[in-house]
Amino acid sequence: METGAKKAQMEGILVSPLASPKGVKYECEMCGKIASIKCKHCGVTFYCSPEHQRIDWDGIHHKICPVLNQIRSPAVLSSERERAKREHMKEKTMLSIIEISKSEAMRNLVSNHFELAMAGALQAQRHSMEIFGANRVELVPAYLLLAEASMGLEHHRQAEGYLSKAKYNVLKHPDCPNILRSRLHRFVTRVCLLRLAVGLGTFIPSFSPPPAASHLIDPSRFYPSVYDRAVPAGGFIW
Ligand SMILES: [Zn+2]
Ligand SMILES: [Zn+2]
Repeated sequence: METGAKKAQMEGILVSPLASPKGVKYECEMCGKIASIKCKHCGVTFYCSPEHQRIDWDGIHHKICPVLNQIRSPAVLSSERERAKREHMKEKTMLSIIEISKSEAMRNLVSNHFELAMAGALQAQRHSMEIFGANRVELVPAYLLLAEASMGLEHHRQAEGYLSKAKYNVLKHPDCPNILRSRLHRFVTRVCLLRLAVGLGTFIPSFSPPPAASHLIDPSRFYPSVYDRAVPAGGFIW
C-alpha cells in the first residue's frame, strides 16, 4: 500500500491539451498517449494516467526527476559559447541518465518487477536514441532490456519487435562489440527454442528498419497462447 508521503511525492498536476504551446503535443512518458497530468517536481514529464506516473516514478523517475528538468527546460542563451556549453552539459547528463536507467532496469528485472524495469529501459532507449541516433549499436543494450521486460510482462510480440530492432542495429554495424552480439544471439536462441517447444515455429527477427514509434506499451499486443505459458517464472535473464 502506498504511504501518504509517497503519494504526495508522486502527485501530478493536471494539464490541458488546449494549454500546450502551438504545435507541441504532450505525450505520456510510458505509452506515448496524449498526457493529462505532469510531474509536479520537474514539470517536464507527462503521463496519460496516475497509474503510468506511478510505474515511471517507482521504476526510474524518482532517480532522474531533478536532472530531467535541467535538460528538458528551454534555456535563453545569448552566445554561441553558452549554447555549446549547455549542449556539452546536456550530453553528459543524458549519458549518466542512460547508465542509471540501465542499472535500475536490470535491478528490477532481477527482482521480477517487469513493469518497473520497462520504465528504466524506456528511458535508456529514449536518451540513447537522442544522443547516438536511431539504428545505432549503442541502442542494443536498451532494446535487450525492453525485450526482457516485455517477455516478463508476457508481451511476446512486443519482445520480438525489440529483438528485431536490436538485430537490425547489430547488422548495420559490423564493428559491434562481440559481447553485445553474443547477448543478442543468446536471447534470440532462447526465444526460438521456446517457440519450437510449443510448436510455433522459429522466430526470425525482421531485418526491416524499425518503425519510428518504438516505445509503446500496448496491451492490445498481448499475445495469449501456449507459448506465453511456457515462459519460465521470473522471465529470462541474459
Ligand atoms: Zn501512458
Ligand atoms: Zn519529475
